[in-house]
Amino acid sequence: MEIENLALPPASMANRPIYLDYQATTPVDSRVVEAMVPFFTEHFGNPASLTHLYGWEAEAAVKRARETLAAAINASPEEIIFTSGATEANNLALKGVAEAYFSQGRHIITVQTEHRAVLAPCAYLESLGFALTYLPVQADGLLDLNTLEAALRPDTILVSVMAANNEIGVLQPLADIGALCRERGVLFHSDAAQAIGKIPLDVQALQIDLLSLTAHKVYGPKGIGALYVRRRQPRVSLAPQLHGGGQERGLRSGTLYPPQIVGFAKAIELGLAEMSTERDRLTDLRNTLWHGLQACGNVHLNGHPSQRLPGNLNVSFEGVDGAALVLGLRSLVALSSGSACSSVDTAPSHVLKALGHSDDLAYASLRFGLGRFTTAAEIEAVAEGVVATVQALRPASSVA
Ligand SMILES: *Cc1c(COP(=O)(O)O)cnc(C)c1O
Repeated sequence: MEIENLALPPASMANRPIYLDYQATTPVDSRVVEAMVPFFTEHFGNPASLTHLYGWEAEAAVKRARETLAAAINASPEEIIFTSGATEANNLALKGVAEAYFSQGRHIITVQTEHRAVLAPCAYLESLGFALTYLPVQADGLLDLNTLEAALRPDTILVSVMAANNEIGVLQPLADIGALCRERGVLFHSDAAQAIGKIPLDVQALQIDLLSLTAHKVYGPKGIGALYVRRRQPRVSLAPQLHGGGQERGLRSGTLYPPQIVGFAKAIELGLAEMSTERDRLTDLRNTLWHGLQACGNVHLNGHPSQRLPGNLNVSFEGVDGAALVLGLRSLVALSSGSACSSVDTAPSHVLKALGHSDDLAYASLRFGLGRFTTAAEIEAVAEGVVATVQALRPASSVA
C-alpha cells in the first residue's frame, strides 16, 4: 500500500520550538503509522467476529501483535491484557490484585516517586480500608532494598515499584526487588511506561508478576497499552475492573482496537531493534547537553548520574524559577518544568521533593526529554538558549 506524507513534513516543523518533552509523549514513528493504516480501512473487522473473513483478519493481526509484545518481555501471549494505556494497566493491576487478595492481606507497598497513575489508585485503595506504605527514596532517587525489606509485613500482598521514573529518569533495581518479593511470597508490579522499548525488560529474569506498558512514550499511538499478568509460578489472580463482553479472558471487556494494537507492537519491535544504538546516541547527546548547561553555574543534576534513562536529563538551576524559564524558552524549546502530568497544578514536583529538595530548588527545575528525532544541532541550540535565559533571569547577586 502506498502512503504519502507519513512523516511530519519538514516545512511544518520550521519555526516551531524544538521538541524536548519525550517523557510526556512522542511522535508516532512513520513506520508505525504505515503498519496501522490498513487496519482502519481495509482490515477493519472486529477481532471477536469469528464467523467471517473480516473478523479473522483482525483477530490474526491482534494475535501477531500479542506474540510480539509477549516476546519483547519474555512472557507468553496469553499473559498480555490490552488496555487503553499505562494508567488503565496500573489501575487494573493495583485494584485487581487488591480485590482478588484482600482476604489474604490488605497491605500494599509503593514508592513516593511513583507516577500519579499509581499513587492515585493507591490513595483510592486506602479510602477503601487498605493499608498503604509509601517508601522514601535515597537522594539519587533509587529505592534502598533494606527500606523495602523492613516495610514488608505478613499481610503485604503487593509491592509496586516503577521501572523508570518519568521525571528524573532513574531506573529502579527491579531484579533485586523481584528477588526479595518472590522470596517473601509477595506479588511484584512494575509500571514500565517509560522503560518499555528503551531498556531490556525480562519478566522472568526480573521476577515481575505484573507489568504496565504503554505505546505513546515509545513512538507508538496514544490510547493503547497492556498489562502483563503472570500465569504460572505464581499464577496471579486479578479481579476485572471493566465488565462487558468478556474480551481479554474476561479481564478487560471492550472491543479490541486493531490499528492501535498493531501500531503498539510495531513500535515495540522498532524500539527493541534500535535499542542499543539509540541508547548510545542519546547518552552522548544528553552528556553534551549536561556539559553545555554547566556554563550556567550552580546547576544540579536530579537523579542518579548513570542509573537512568538515556534520554532524560533533569536539572535544577539555583535561584531561577522553572516556570519563568519554561516561559522564557517557549519559542525555542518545548519542555516541561517538573512533571508534565502535574503542570496543571502549581505544587512543586512530588518526585523532586522526595529527593529532599526544598520547594525553591524543586521549582527551579527543568526536565529535558530527548528522543529518536533529537539532533546534535538541536541540543547545541538548546544548551545555548538555556544558559542565556538562566543568566538573564538570575538576580545579579547569584550569577556564577
Ligand atoms: C505516561 C506514564 C503513565 C501514563 O500512561 P498512559 O498510557 O498515558 O495512561 C504512567 N506511568 C508512567 C511512569 C508514565 O510515564
